[in-house]
Amino acid sequence: MAGRLALVTGGNGGIGTAVCRRLAADGYRVVTTCMDAEAERIEDWQAQLRAEGHEVGYVECNVADYDACQRMGEQLRQQFGEVEVLVNLAGITRDGFCHKMASEDWQAVTDVNLDSVFNVTRQLLPGMREQGFGRIVNISSVNGQTGQLGQANYSAAKAGMHGFTMAVAKENARKGVSVNSVSPGYVATPMTDAMPSDVRDQIVSQIPLGRMAEPEEIARVVAFLVADESGYITGANIPVNGALFCSF
Ligand code: NAP
Repeated sequence: MAGRLALVTGGNGGIGTAVCRRLAADGYRVVTTCMDAEAERIEDWQAQLRAEGHEVGYVECNVADYDACQRMGEQLRQQFGEVEVLVNLAGITRDGFCHKMASEDWQAVTDVNLDSVFNVTRQLLPGMREQGFGRIVNISSVNGQTGQLGQANYSAAKAGMHGFTMAVAKENARKGVSVNSVSPGYVATPMTDAMPSDVRDQIVSQIPLGRMAEPEEIARVVAFLVADESGYITGANIPVNGALFCSF
């Protein structure tokens, strides 16, 4: 429904920008999180979207920090109102083989990709339950389904999101709150653009569709899941991977 308030964590990144743009175009009031507004030049980012006709708000928050998320929940309520749509999208990688991985790299990746999903959802679920409406989409990864070399931390965190999704979907099904995950394969973002071209080519050669996804192709699935009409889809994972990994 037009005018619903949507929070997109990490909304100013590669996929996040496409999600913010798409939800704003669909009539949602959109707010993103950012870690440091000045360092991330968030106002330039906002201005760019404004020039395209999209007004997107922001709140500063490290989603790995529970207390910061609690403060963000209160700020959102005061500044914007009750969040009805939550897209847990913030994520990082710190790759390395498990037998050499520093515990800080394990911790950072599980904190930002997995703990954050609880930290943020916990603040917004009570309001969604009270209103009898909510849409939560957790952005996972194909690597959470298949496991990936050099990504024990990331694969574990992204797989953990699915368990969270299914449990919280069941807990809230009768309250009008749907909870789903989306598992992109490889997406053409600044992150993947920065890969050495031989690595990129090797990855693309393994994708049956023959190319990476565009961020807009992920945003389209998010928009579908958060729509008022999509409420019966809950506890699901939607792969968007160009047939890189097929399962049922
Ligand atoms: P990205 O451009 O690096 O965006 C990640 C966003 O998360 C950035 O806005 C980043 O903010 C934010 N973030 C990181 N740590 C944070 C924290 N502690 N608190 C708040 N925000 C934080 O990455 P992307 O490629 O768009 O990926 C977005 C999501 O899709 C991630 O969850 C990723 O795992 C998932 N995904 C990506 C791909 C892919 O091929 N790109 C494939 C599958 C899944 P800063 O700019 O300040 O760091």
